[in-house]
Parts: sequence; structure tokens; C-alpha cells
Amino acid sequence: MFRVAVFLPIAFQVLTTVFALYDGYKVYDVYCKTFIDKEVLTNLSKLSDDYDFIHLTRTFQDPDRVVVPPDLQHDFEMVLDSSLISYNVFNEDVSKTKVSFFTQSFSVSFNSFKYHSYSDMLGYLDYLSRSYPDLVSVKEFGQTFLDRPMKAIYISNDKSKVKTKNVALVDAGIHAREIAAPATALFIINQLVENYSSNKDLVDAFDWVIVPSMNPDGYEFVRSGYILWRRTMTSYFPCAGADPNRNFDFHWSKNGSSPIPCTQNYQGPKPFSEKETRALRDLMFSVADRAKLYLTIHSYGRYLLTPWGHTSDYSDNYEDVLSVAMAGRNAMYEVSGSNYTVGSSTNVLYAASGSSEDYAHGVVGIPIALTMELPAGGTIGFNPPERSVQSIVSESFLGISAMAKRVHEIYPNE
Ligand SMILES: [Zn+2]
Repeated sequence: MFRVAVFLPIAFQVLTTVFALYDGYKVYDVYCKTFIDKEVLTNLSKLSDDYDFIHLTRTFQDPDRVVVPPDLQHDFEMVLDSSLISYNVFNEDVSKTKVSFFTQSFSVSFNSFKYHSYSDMLGYLDYLSRSYPDLVSVKEFGQTFLDRPMKAIYISNDKSKVKTKNVALVDAGIHAREIAAPATALFIINQLVENYSSNKDLVDAFDWVIVPSMNPDGYEFVRSGYILWRRTMTSYFPCAGADPNRNFDFHWSKNGSSPIPCTQNYQGPKPFSEKETRALRDLMFSVADRAKLYLTIHSYGRYLLTPWGHTSDYSDNYEDVLSVAMAGRNAMYEVSGSNYTVGSSTNVLYAASGSSEDYAHGVVGIPIALTMELPAGGTIGFNPPERSVQSIVSESFLGISAMAKRVHEIYPNE
């Protein structure tokens, strides 16, 4: 990965203009047929942290996807050829695709079917709190490494002084490059608030706490041109940032996370080393007594993932959480034919210890904790063109509504 060293934020602009970003980087789709093939890919990832395995799963229905810089492409193809693993080049040159992506995206004014800057997102939250004071409040629950405010929107029609209603906690975009995730969170907010009359049952069932962007430093870095940036921006050397979704203090530094600072899934120097993960931890505990659903939105691959990420074992309430995920999967399949894969993180996607999903269930005690991986799109997979945003967020909202309703059936308000 890029050695983005630690002279942030002053060097931000300099770096983005000086670097020929992703020049000659290729995106490969790899068609594994066996777990031995998967092993070949996994072993490659141990040879160099410059391979970016943006999609490497334990299933075989979709190709795995790897971004390879020019100096590794010859070796990469040789290893696959000698192992008789077929592949094709999905994107010949990542640097050629980013310009059109960015000129098409990120508009100034707010629209649920576009990508937005982080300041536009916060502006929208403030607009909603001013316009719907009986329904909405916005709270800052932490700051990022670069001192951006981290904000959550609270949506509640409970007028009682003593709050007793169940809480649904939703976050998105903890991985910076997964830009469809914040767009989806913003659409949930839009529907619950500005289309309240159609979605009153969801607000009757839960007080909603939604964080549209869990990694705004990384998200803005993506917008500046570093479209493959996944991690936080904390000033580590020689590579900035850690993977916040490997940084939670629950089976930290175990399967599926890396102690090597420049890898994409670097766990950080210690649990909760990142300001962003500490802020989310505190937000989780602030609603722990009432939270029944924790949903964290990622992309891509169309997965609804249940605990655990740190082990292939199933969680204690696997049947319940599976029934919630299936409700979401079936709702989306019936309407759009979208075929989400449902199962535990480790068993259908990959091991990921130190994740927010595992922490929410294993430490905070939120009974239903789920990770949603949105559909792929665009020239890399993480960058659906803006014309796809409407279908992605609309379909996702259907699935999320169905999951929330199923959680409400299992855990009705007292
Ligand atoms: Zn992710």
C-alpha cells in the first residue's frame, strides 16, 4: 500500500497532487475452484503487503479480486498460471478510472441518491435536527484523529422522560473506500425522518441511533483521490492508519487481522488505539441497556454476516440472528432478485477478529449484531457509479427494514 507518512494534514494536498496515484495498478478477478486455490491467494498476501485483496472470500460464487501494483504483476500472474488458477484483468489501470468517478460524484447540495462530502453529511443532519426537532437530535460522540467531529443522529418519537424503547444502532463507512455504505445510512435517515409517515412502524419499534460515517478522515482522503484507502489516518510510521474493524478489544490480534503496520487489515498497536473505535465503543455502551440491534454497513459482495468473526464457531443465539438476516435477504430477493449470502462472518466471508460486530455482541451484549456487505459496482467494486446509488440504497433500505421488523418480533418493547 502507499506509504503515506505522518506529516498530516499539511501534506495532504501536496501528496495528492504529486503522486501519480495508482499508475498502472491492475484489478484482477481470480476464479478459485478449490480451497487449495484460495490458499495460494492467501499465501501471496503473506509475501507482500502491496497486494490489496479487496475481495477474498470462502465462497466460490463470485471471483476473488486483487489490486496489484505494476512491480508485482509479473510474479502474480506467474503464481496463478503455475497453479492453474484462471483470472482476468477487470481493470487495466486504476489511475485511469478515478477521474471520471470523481467528476461524476460528490455533489454540493444534498440528495439521497448521490455521494456527499462529510461536511455535507453533517449539514444534512443539522438541517434535520432544525426541521424536525420533535423527532431528531444530533450528538457529537467523539472526534477523529484529524479532529473531525463524529456525529450520530438520534431518531425517536418517544416523548417519555424515561427512555425505555429498544434501540437500533447503525453505522456505516468504518472502511473509508466503501462509499456506498454512508450513502445507504443517509438514505435510512432520510426515510425514517423525511418519509416518517410511511415508516412510522420502524420508529415506533425502535429509537434509532445512526452514524453515517464512522471514518470521515479516511472518507475524505478517498474523495481526495486515494480511492483504495480503507483505514484510519492515525499518524503511524511508515504507513498511516489502522484497520478500525480489527481494532476492537475482543479477541484482538487473532484470526484475520495483521500486526504488520502497512497491511490493509493492520490491527493497530493496541486494542482501541484509534480514536474512532474508542468513540464507537462509548456510543455502544451509552445505549447498551436498550440496544437490541447493531448493524454495521460495509461493501461489497452482498453478504449479511452474523457473529463470529474471530472463530468459525456460531454465536449463542445463532438461530435468532440468522432469522433476522434471512428476513432481510428474503425481502430484497423478492423485490429485486438480489441474492445476498447469509451466514457467520468467518464461515462465509473471512475471519476478522477485533471487529465492531463481534465487540457489539460479545462485550456490549447487543443480542442481534450484523454486518451488511452491499452490492459491488464500478471499476473496482467499491465505487458504484452515481447512477447506481438509488437502486443500492433503496434495495438496502428494504432489507434493513425487514431485519428491524424481525428484531422487533423477537424483542418487542416492554
Ligand atoms: Zn468493510
